[in-house]
Amino acid sequence: MGAAGTWAGVPAVLEAGCSRGRPLRTYNRLVMSTAEETHVVGGGLAGSECAYQLARRGLPVVLHEMRPERPTPAHHTGEFAELVCSNSFRSDDPHHAAGVLKREMEAFSSLIIGSARAAAVPAGGALAVDRERYAQRVTAALEAEPLIEIRRREVTELPDGDVVLATGPLTSDAMSAVLAELLGDEYLYFYDAIAPIVDTESLDHDQLFAASRYGKGGDDYLNAPLDREQYLAFQEALVGAEVMELHDFEKKLFFEGCLPIEEMARRGVDTLRFGPMKPVGLTQPDGTRPYAVVQLRQENLARSHYNLVGFQSRMTWGEQKRVLRMIPGLGKARFERLGQIHRNTFVNAPVHLDELYRLKNHPRVRLAGQITGVEGYLESAATGLLIALYLTLEGRGSEPLPLPATTALGALARHLTESKAKHFQPANINYGLFEPLEGGRIKKRERRRVYAERASAELGRWMTANRSALIRGEREAAEEGVAEAAVR
Ligand SMILES: Cc1cc2nc3c(=O)[nH]c(=O)nc-3n(C[C@H](O)[C@H](O)[C@H](O)COP(=O)(O)OP(=O)(O)OC[C@H]3O[C@@H](n4cnc5c(N)ncnc54)[C@H](O)[C@@H]3O)c2cc1C
Repeated sequence: MGAAGTWAGVPAVLEAGCSRGRPLRTYNRLVMSTAEETHVVGGGLAGSECAYQLARRGLPVVLHEMRPERPTPAHHTGEFAELVCSNSFRSDDPHHAAGVLKREMEAFSSLIIGSARAAAVPAGGALAVDRERYAQRVTAALEAEPLIEIRRREVTELPDGDVVLATGPLTSDAMSAVLAELLGDEYLYFYDAIAPIVDTESLDHDQLFAASRYGKGGDDYLNAPLDREQYLAFQEALVGAEVMELHDFEKKLFFEGCLPIEEMARRGVDTLRFGPMKPVGLTQPDGTRPYAVVQLRQENLARSHYNLVGFQSRMTWGEQKRVLRMIPGLGKARFERLGQIHRNTFVNAPVHLDELYRLKNHPRVRLAGQITGVEGYLESAATGLLIALYLTLEGRGSEPLPLPATTALGALARHLTESKAKHFQPANINYGLFEPLEGGRIKKRERRRVYAERASAELGRWMTANRSALIRGEREAAEEGVAEAAVR
């Protein structure tokens, strides 16, 4: 599988750290032997990557996938790792957090990123794919792996032994019931709405004020006040905005009580003022109460992103940007994520997961992919990859040291384990999830590079520290004809 390219911006560190100038994909050839098979449930982005990585390291895997026999409401094929919507794996800029995550995955010869590169289509700075070619490639690679046994059926009970549950946002009802039994109903979240997220630095803070409703929680929220005229113009724009078509299964959810803001706006001129834009309990610095207000809630520990509370939407992405920039203080907002509505099964990770993705109460069960509370194709695949590395290390008798949150892979786990359980929400990879940079102020443009370089160095260190546990001996490697690939 061709993991294209080294980490173009920072190759030296990775090479020096672990492979003396050889590309980091050499970590792919890592073999150990064990009789116990790992059950990976769900052959989506996370499960496919996880099964592949385990098998390439000599661990036998049973990969369970219910499609095509039992389809989901969003998948259309029986291929592994099918992309259900967009064909993009986000930015490929080596200094963008999504670009860093890709390069970290490529250091371990990611099946998903390798297949995506092989099936790439021109998409500016993003890595986008011909979805059919990409999924066929993933499927062929999995089917060709001798250590992977593929079982095409729905799993309705927890298999014995080590289990990686990677059943995704559309986890089947039977598996949801299994999870509910393991975790307790109250901890299995079914979120079908995602509010937009903005970059804090793109906000005009002069137009916002920090306060919590009725003073509860100090200045936890940023508030964008609207006067009557601004509110009416905003409400009118929402009513006229273009919206996306809904799938049938989404319609059902939609009517189950998750109302998009534009739908609320349509129900009456004041509906929003009595809903997510209600001004009660909020006083502006001049002592007056605004006519309406949009609340922004801190999204991550670093406060680098805020979400618009209650602003789930099915407006098209262009319309969301246009209409939401009418909110005072958001005129130049950069959107880290736009509002969405779809079914999403995920657990309250800070309550249930440890930093190795194990269920705290059932450590033989690991969760991977979107069900953990990461968001997106790339991030889901990344969790599958990391779990396979940890399982390999455990199989070799060493307690794995989690990757530090200075790396993109480690930052994802940090989001899952260190976020506040009460407000836990899925997240894409972004620098707000990373360990903050130390030292004095660094210019914004420089900061991304510094983050990326630090991630590269730290990943190299972790790989070096775990090298002996992750790779097979040189003699074995030579016997297998992969001496070239062995890391020295
Ligand atoms: C409608 C919709 C649109 C989306 N759009 C985007 C987008 O544009 N970009 C983006 O990055 N992300 C998008 N996502 C999120 C996307 O689902 C994830 O990014 C990614 O697919 C998650 O990977 P995963 O491996 O966790 O789950 P999936 O890729 O969904 O894989 C889970 C697999 O488990 C299987 N499965 C489920 N239950 C069982 C069972 N009991 N037994 C056996 N197999 C089972 C399913 O058939 C599926 O193949 C969207 C999600 C939805 C629902």
